[in-house]
Amino acid sequence: MELPQGDPLTVIQWLAKRRLLANSRECEVCHIPMSRVKKNGVDGFAWRCRICDTRVTIRRGSFLHDSHLKLSQMLVILHEWSMDQSQEDIARVARINQTQKVVDWSNFCRAVCRRFNDAVPQKLWRLTSRTSLNGSTTGEQCAPGVGCLVE
Ligand SMILES: [Zn+2]
Repeated sequence: MELPQGDPLTVIQWLAKRRLLANSRECEVCHIPMSRVKKNGVDGFAWRCRICDTRVTIRRGSFLHDSHLKLSQMLVILHEWSMDQSQEDIARVARINQTQKVVDWSNFCRAVCRRFNDAVPQKLWRLTSRTSLNGSTTGEQCAPGVGCLVE
């Protein structure tokens, strides 16, 4: 994956579509929907309240909030990490000079996946006579090592 170039809104929309960023936001003061507006800065956009003019980062409330990297760089890191690329390759493709940032993000991705893996198999195996991963509702279709989905 090459580092996405051009309009940052494309990256924002891609991340929002996959719920990695919020699709909407409510003003914490006025309790009305905020608008996504252009803003100078690393993301190019922010949330803005039309009544009180409060502005918040487009990343607020997401796991990307604490990073100073561009959203496009983080997208590349997530993609390359999921493709099991080396940290050196991730840094090169994401154009990050600080290897420690890639190490930190790789550790973060690993921790998130570990938490997911620790939680999901228990749910999958709890109800083995329900709907299987292939859509069957019979217990025979729940193959060992695959598990069955909880309805
Ligand atoms: Zn407001």
